Amino acid sequence: MTAAAEPAEQLWSRCAGCASLLYRKRLRRNLDVCPECGEHTRLGAPERLRQLVDPGSLRLLPDRLPEADPIDFVDVLPYPHRLSAARISTGLAEAVLCATATIGGQPAALAVMDFRFLGGSLGCAVGELITRTAERALDDRVPLILVTASGGARMQEGALSLMQMATVSQAIAALREAGLLTVSVLTDPTYGGVAASFATNTDLVLAESGARMGFAGPRVIRQVTGRALPEGFQTADFLLRHGQVDMVVQRRSLRGRLAALLAAARAGRPARPPVPRQEPAPHHERLAGVVPPVVPDGPRAVGERPADDPTPAVRDAWDTVRTARHPGRPTTLDYLDSVFDGFVELHGDRLGGDCPAIVGGVARLAGRHVMVIGHQKGHTTADLVARNFGMASPAGHRKALRLMRLAARLGLPVVTLVDTPGADPGISAEEHGQAAAIAENILTLTVLPTPVLAVITGEGGSGGALALAVADRVLMLQHAVYSVISPEGCAAILWPDRSAAPQAARALRLTAPDLCRLGVVDEIVPEPATAAHDDPAETARRLRAALLANLLPLLDVPPAMLVRLRRQRFRRFGATRAGVRAVAR
Ligand SMILES: [Zn+2]
Repeated sequence: MTAAAEPAEQLWSRCAGCASLLYRKRLRRNLDVCPECGEHTRLGAPERLRQLVDPGSLRLLPDRLPEADPIDFVDVLPYPHRLSAARISTGLAEAVLCATATIGGQPAALAVMDFRFLGGSLGCAVGELITRTAERALDDRVPLILVTASGGARMQEGALSLMQMATVSQAIAALREAGLLTVSVLTDPTYGGVAASFATNTDLVLAESGARMGFAGPRVIRQVTGRALPEGFQTADFLLRHGQVDMVVQRRSLRGRLAALLAAARAGRPARPPVPRQEPAPHHERLAGVVPPVVPDGPRAVGERPADDPTPAVRDAWDTVRTARHPGRPTTLDYLDSVFDGFVELHGDRLGGDCPAIVGGVARLAGRHVMVIGHQKGHTTADLVARNFGMASPAGHRKALRLMRLAARLGLPVVTLVDTPGADPGISAEEHGQAAAIAENILTLTVLPTPVLAVITGEGGSGGALALAVADRVLMLQHAVYSVISPEGCAAILWPDRSAAPQAARALRLTAPDLCRLGVVDEIVPEPATAAHDDPAETARRLRAALLANLLPLLDVPPAMLVRLRRQRFRRFGATRAGVRAVAR
């Protein structure tokens, strides 16, 4: 549309804050902040970059990746149609724009998300582009600035989207190790998987005035708790009051604040030799998606069913969801009793809480000492309520973090048992930094110098599951599920209503065989009879055998090598892997 043909509504816009009718050019001159009431209008990534960096310093990084639809996702529209529509309407290739530039004369690498592009959702391409920007910052030895605007992980790429939280986090961990500053700038809105990873596990977190950030969205929290939300809930000022951000910054001051922080980081940078960066997998290997497996025996033949298994080979995904949620299914405490010996439970986050939804402590597995951490549900309503249905609070995630670090110091391997519908989506959880608590666990696990073995035993619900599942080997019980979002949640967003949950369950590829094919899971632990709850003793026997078979080879790998391989494992979930099935553009 040419300027001459621009209709009147393009020349004027109504402020969402005070309803003033504003001349658009005047609004733009004021950095898209309402001159009447100070409302900060959302910015697209190109305009944001223009406002933040020194004129003439911007160098955009490549944004084209092989197009991919890794799980062939279809809701009411096929995913590629939604992607094309987003490209046409925004003029962007993806939901992030990456660049190098200077800010107040200080060099930096920047990744700026764009909410207009599929809600700024984090998929494989977005994760890959941000990770490459972080790697560029490491190569150039400059700080990394992430400007976030996102509804969360991209449902249409299933669990591979969830893995991006770990992929980007391990790149941020590398910058931390190299002593390079990382800064996130929260803009409105920043939620879900982005909030629970790189938006909050950077050194500094700035919130733009008026931005909202949280792990769970307000609608979900209202639905789950049935409570009205406090005034200003999840806004920048709320976050500042609750210790979640370093500062709240008006848009017109943002560039100056960033320049000052970059200057301080540069001045204070210790004169130390550059830390050798982790060897990425050779490019051709990444393209083919054939990064060497972590242990020599590699993924087992999956879908291989034991002879006594009378279940049909292909069970509907929705049936699997229901089996995974069965109240009779063995819980973490059941397995601590049946699979392990001598469990000594350890409590508390040392910051004021002890979350009953996570249990952890030292135990023995066939005579070997290990640290076991898992979500705890229950078999009765009373148990479930007492354990908050296995939904961990920030205190639970911080207890888990404390035990992981303790295990590393003591040289104990970590075994995690994952069974949660998701992290606690409550008001108090948000006040206590649920997003940051999950984000810190994910980052810490990418570099934990001891073997980590994760088992999805029941429900692997989104970021709450990943907070315990960034591991050297990820096992999954045959009828467990692991997903970026619950089928009900996905149906409510992409279908007309929640009754489409069974279709959503199929589209999300959340079963063990699907996830094995995608490389998210390394091995399936077969369940006896129809499911684990029919024969808990036999399930325990099989789980114990699988744990031992996977743990023993890891014990011989030097810690530095373990960390390097674990990071490669999560690095390979970028778009290059999805690109195996790329469609030429
Ligand atoms: Zn206004």
